[in-house]
Amino acid sequence: MSESKKRILLMVLDGAGDRACPELRGLTPLQHVRTPNLDWFVEHGIAGLCDPISPGVRAGSDTAHLSILGYDARAVYTGRGPFEAIGAGVDIQPGDVAFRCNFATVNSDMEILDRRAGRIREPETEQLAEALDGIEIDGIECSVHAGTEHRAVLVLRGDGLSPDVTDCDPGEDSHLLRCEPLTEEAQLTADVVNGFLDEAYERLRSHTVNRKRSAAGLPPANILVPRGAGGYPDIESFQEKYGISATCVAGVGLVKGICKVCGLDVYPLPPVCDGGMDSDLIMKMEGVLEALEEYDFVLMNIKAPDVAGHDGDAKAKSEVIKRIDAAVGFFRSRMPEDLVVVITCDHCTPCSLQDHSGDPVPIAFYTQGMIWDDAGEFSETGCSRGMVGRIRATDIIPICMDLANRTSKFGS
Ligand code: ZN
Ligand code: ZN
Repeated sequence: MSESKKRILLMVLDGAGDRACPELRGLTPLQHVRTPNLDWFVEHGIAGLCDPISPGVRAGSDTAHLSILGYDARAVYTGRGPFEAIGAGVDIQPGDVAFRCNFATVNSDMEILDRRAGRIREPETEQLAEALDGIEIDGIECSVHAGTEHRAVLVLRGDGLSPDVTDCDPGEDSHLLRCEPLTEEAQLTADVVNGFLDEAYERLRSHTVNRKRSAAGLPPANILVPRGAGGYPDIESFQEKYGISATCVAGVGLVKGICKVCGLDVYPLPPVCDGGMDSDLIMKMEGVLEALEEYDFVLMNIKAPDVAGHDGDAKAKSEVIKRIDAAVGFFRSRMPEDLVVVITCDHCTPCSLQDHSGDPVPIAFYTQGMIWDDAGEFSETGCSRGMVGRIRATDIIPICMDLANRTSKFGS
């Protein structure tokens, strides 16, 4: 093969896809906002639609990213807790059971008053996590680690644990649920979780951080709400699977965690690139440019559109997309020539749902010297005009590898 191997950048605009928004005259934020820089990649490449898992399946960010990286999410997924734990930098081990948690506000009846404790974040959550770290129940060690914003991770370590327990998150109902075992073997684990929550409430309600919050009229973060129990995931490394070096440039713990268990490195970023609504996207792009000097493959995740979608705020989502487009313009004027760029979303987060939907997402593939199709706009409808047609996220890496001249021939 005479053409040389190219590097690959996969840009994931988390939850950017949407449905018709009444506030935007029935358009989606991607249709509504002018995005000349995102559109440039569509105009100079090929586009289509992509189902994160399969048509109609509502993917989480974790299962969607597994799928985007080429893994069968249904086969490798072990619950969200372990992925969040790994993303928060927690060294989880075989035998551990991990949960993802929210810091929340409850009254003394364990009625949840605020699921995010007034969107509490670091450094307060770090101080609270520290107060809970090291609690021991029935010989099981409980460790707590602050995650992004109001999120945290609970890891249980010791003999005889099982991830087959229920969530404590009440969803629509308002009272914190007790953890229940789903199998006989999981009784100890459920008991430990319940014992831990009782102790956590005692320690948190009198904590200085919460006293200060109450004095300032803010909801105290006086409980942890655990869900998504899971054991240690065992996944074939991405680098071995595809024979390329790979890293991720991401702010949120969950995405970093997924990438880490798949064997990708996690590229260090300054704290201003934390994946929140005001995350510094230009600095993130600088991180991407640096990472591309070292690695064959870079996955970049921008979390902010998903956050706006969960808030149901179509205007804020449009503003975020404008900022993403500006950052993509910054990147485009500096990007190396021997590069394959893929732009897509991990799932749609329609403002009208305030959650993920099972709709397909727009996708565009670009590299120098490729065919240009008739698609010209990075949006749900704009990309649907392209020649990629409708693919599944597990097809993305094989297509990238082909465009990057990195595949071996099937047959002679
Ligand atoms: Zn997502
Ligand atoms: Zn989401």
